[in-house]
Amino acid sequence: MKKHNFNAGPSVLPREVIEKTAQAVLDFQGEGLSILEISHRAKYFQPVVDEAIALFKELLNIPEGYSVIFLGGGASLQFCMVPFNLLEKKAAYLNTGVWAKKALKEAKGFGEVVEVASSADANYTFIPKNFTIPADADYFHITTNNTIYGTEILKDLDSPVPLVADMSSDIFSRPVDVSKYGMIYGGAQKNLAPAGVTFVIIKNDLLGKVSRYIPTMLNYQTHINDSSMFNTPPVLPIYAALQTLKWLKENGGLKEMEKKNIAKANLLYNAIDNSKMFVGTANKEDRSRMNICFVMKEEYKALEDDFLKFAVSKGMVGIKGHRSVGGFRASCYNALPIESVQALVDCMAEFEKQNAK
Ligand SMILES: *Cc1c(COP(=O)(O)O)cnc(C)c1O
Repeated sequence: MKKHNFNAGPSVLPREVIEKTAQAVLDFQGEGLSILEISHRAKYFQPVVDEAIALFKELLNIPEGYSVIFLGGGASLQFCMVPFNLLEKKAAYLNTGVWAKKALKEAKGFGEVVEVASSADANYTFIPKNFTIPADADYFHITTNNTIYGTEILKDLDSPVPLVADMSSDIFSRPVDVSKYGMIYGGAQKNLAPAGVTFVIIKNDLLGKVSRYIPTMLNYQTHINDSSMFNTPPVLPIYAALQTLKWLKENGGLKEMEKKNIAKANLLYNAIDNSKMFVGTANKEDRSRMNICFVMKEEYKALEDDFLKFAVSKGMVGIKGHRSVGGFRASCYNALPIESVQALVDCMAEFEKQNAK
C-alpha cells in the first residue's frame, strides 16, 4: 500500500534525494568507495560542502556578509550556542511554543533575558503581536514555525536589534528576506535532510562582540574559518542535504515551493473548516503551512482513536498529534506531494460519512 508520510521530523524527503543518497552509500561518484568510508578530507568531499553552501546562498538569496555553516548537535545545541556567542548583557525572546521556551531557558544562563510576549497561557494557539523589542537587547530570538502547536510567523519581522530565528521546520518552505535576520538556524531533519546536521546562516559582523571565553567547538567563528571542516562534519546528512537543495532548484526554487505549500495547506484547512467532525486548534490567522493540527469536536472526541486506526489502514503515517496538543497533526513539508494531502482529506471525508450523526 502507498504510504503518505506526515511525520513531523525526521520526515518525508524527495524520493530522488533518497535514491541519490542510497547510490552514494553504494558507490560515491564512481570512486569505487562508499560515502560511509571516505575521509571528509578526501578531495571529492569538500566540493559537496562548497556546493551545498553555494546553493543555500542562491536559493535563499543570502546577501554578502553572511556565512553558512554545517554543524552537529541539532537545533537544541543552538539554544546555548546562540547566547554563548551573541549575548553580552541582554537578549529578547518571543515565547511561542515548546522550542521557543527551551531556547529562552538556555539563554538565561548567559545574561538577562526579556520575554517580550508569550502565548503559553493559551496553550500556544496563537502568535503574540504588538510586543515591544527592547532596543538595547543584543538580539531578538523567534521560532518562525511552531512545529508542535501548528502556528507560524510567515512575515519577516522588523526588529531594531539583530533578529535570530529558529527555522528548523519551515526553512526553504517560502522565500525569506535574509537581510532582515542576523542569524537563521535549524536542525535539517524537518525539511532538508536526514537527522544529524544543523545549518547556521549568520551575519559575520555579529561575531566577536562578547567578552566571555567561547570554547573552540562552540564558537561560530571556528566553523566559518574552516568552512565547516574544523572537525569531521556529518558527511552523509550533508550529502543528502545537497541532493535536496538541487531538487529545490530543479523544482522552481522557493517561490514555487511556497505556491505548492499554500495549495496543500489550503486543501487540508478547508477540509477541516468544512467538517462536522474535525476542528483546527491554532488561531486561523497564525496557522502553520507546515504542521497542521486538528482535533475532533467535543461530541466526537471518543472517536479519535478509531479515526487514527482508520487513517493508518489507508496508508497515513505520522498523523497522531503531539502529546501536548492531542488529536492529529499532519506535517506537510516540501517533499510531501499534494496527492498525499488529498488522500488524507478523502480519508477524513469517508470516516465522517460513516460516523457523523
Ligand atoms: C525539531 C525542532 C527543534 C529540535 O531540533 P533538534 O535538531 O532535535 O535539536 C528545535 N526547534 C524547532 C522549531 C523544531 O521543530
